[in-house]
Parts: sequence; C-alpha cells; structure tokens
Amino acid sequence: MSGKNILIVYAHQEPKSMNGSLKNIAVDVLSKMGCCVTVSDLYAMKFNAAATRNDITGDLCNPQHFSYGIETMEALKKGYLCEDILQEQKKINEADLIIFQFPIYWFSFPAIMKGWIDRCFVQGFAFDIPGCYDTGLLKGKRALLSFTTGGTEDMFSKEGKSGDIRYLLWPIQHGIMHFCGFQVLAPQISYAPEYVSEQRRKEMLNNWAQRLENIWDEDPIDCTPPWYFQ
Ligand SMILES: Cc1cc2nc3c(=O)[nH]c(=O)nc-3n(C[C@H](O)[C@H](O)[C@H](O)COP(=O)(O)OP(=O)(O)OC[C@H]3O[C@@H](n4cnc5c(N)ncnc54)[C@H](O)[C@@H]3O)c2cc1C
Repeated sequence: MSGKNILIVYAHQEPKSMNGSLKNIAVDVLSKMGCCVTVSDLYAMKFNAAATRNDITGDLCNPQHFSYGIETMEALKKGYLCEDILQEQKKINEADLIIFQFPIYWFSFPAIMKGWIDRCFVQGFAFDIPGCYDTGLLKGKRALLSFTTGGTEDMFSKEGKSGDIRYLLWPIQHGIMHFCGFQVLAPQISYAPEYVSEQRRKEMLNNWAQRLENIWDEDPIDCTPPWYFQ
C-alpha cells in the first residue's frame, strides 16, 4: 500500500459523528501504512452541489438551449470548467482508491455528495460514449462506499422492511462507479450506530481499521446484476 494515493470524499456536518470517526480512522490507518491520503470534506468546503451554467467559465456552445452534459463536456476540452471542479478532478486523477464516507440519506448519498458526482464526473473525464462500464475513463482506480444507516441490518435483509441493502447499492456502485470504470470493492456498512451500544460502535470502528490494513489485497466485487439481485 505504501505510495498509494487515497482520496476520501467525506460528507458529514459533525466531526464527532460516527462518520467523522470512520473517516478519521481511515486517515490514521492509511497514513501509517505509507499512503498519501487526501480528504475532500464536502460540508467544511461548502462544496456547491448544484450543476448549473456557472460551472462553465467561457462561452457556451448553445446559450439558447442549455444542456449541462454537453456544455461541461465541451468546457472540459476547452479548459472552461470552473476551479472547484478542476481541483476535485485533479484529486480524482491522482487517486488509486476513492473512499466515499457518508450517512445514508433516503436510500442514497447525501445531496452534497451526489452533487460532487454530478459536477466532477463530466463526460470526457469520467466516462464517454463509448467509454463506459469496463472501459469507463476511470478504469484502473478502485472505489469503496463506507456508510452508516439509521436502519438495522435486519431491516436491510431480503426479508426485511427496507429490502436487501444490495438493491440500494445498485444505482450507486453499478450506475455510477462501475459505469465510470472503477473496480468496486465490497461496501463497508456500519448499521444503526445511533441505536447500538458504545461497545458495538467500537467494534465497527475496529473492523474498519483492520479491513483497511489489507485493503490492497482485496478483489473487487463481481459488478454484474447477479451480485445485487440473486
Ligand atoms: C435526511 C436524512 C435521510 C435519511 N435517510 C435514511 C434512509 O433512507 N435509511 C436509513 O437507514 N437511514 C436514514 N437516515 C438516518 C441516517 O443514515 C443515520 O442517522 C446516520 O447514518 C447515522 O450516522 P451518524 O454518523 O450521523 O451518527 P451519529 O449520530 O453522529 O453517531 C452515532 C453515535 O456514535 C457515536 N460515536 C461517534 N464516534 C464514536 C467513536 N469513536 N466511538 C464510539 N462512539 C462514537 C456518537 O457519539 C453517537 O452517539 C437519514 C437521515 C437523514 C438526516
């Protein structure tokens, strides 16, 4: 792992939260292993989640009918993308592994993290047509979702009220990460930290630390529909 670059994209407002602790442990463990760790702390950065025409600093191709996808793709080629996107894209380019650390909001990312994806994963940078899934432009990099839930593990089982957690991972791991070419590592799920004992929370943090020590030996998941739906 020594010499590897890790980007942690972190979305929690409270440094003392469980997500804050999971992020801190990752920084500590990976740094001790000799990795270069960068954190994009989205709330602290006040990261702008809205994909708007302000993301293009030069002339628009078609100001009469604004298309965010087309305009950002062209802006990328001409060097017209705004500075905060360029800074995040530089971090993505340098990363061997990106860890997304977040609490689950409405069966998905918090909006600020979705906005980071909407704005940074520009066509021509993260994917192209052709140039998606196994040939996605971020091929060779790894992605890992580390998240907390409000619901318990039972609730997120196949028979549980919320359904199998893998159903919810499909749009994120497959529709975003695999689409852009990432190899996806198994998710790190810390269930219901608000409702378990202090002892259990410490175990979750230790499990995460131990897993990270061998993270580079892990094989990616089989990113095909059966992993999610069988
Ligand atoms: C808008 C919104 C939508 C949501 N949608 C969903 C949903 O669809 N599905 C769902 O399941 N949940 C949902 N939730 C719930 C949310 O996912 C959980 O509240 C969140 O995951 C809990 O994580 P946290 O980091 O915020 O916990 P926190 O409340 O910050 O932490 C839990 C506990 O861990 C303690 N702790 C922190 N660090 C340590 C440490 N080092 N050692 C020991 N203890 C520690 C804290 O003190 C606290 O007591 C939603 C919440 C919101 C606000």
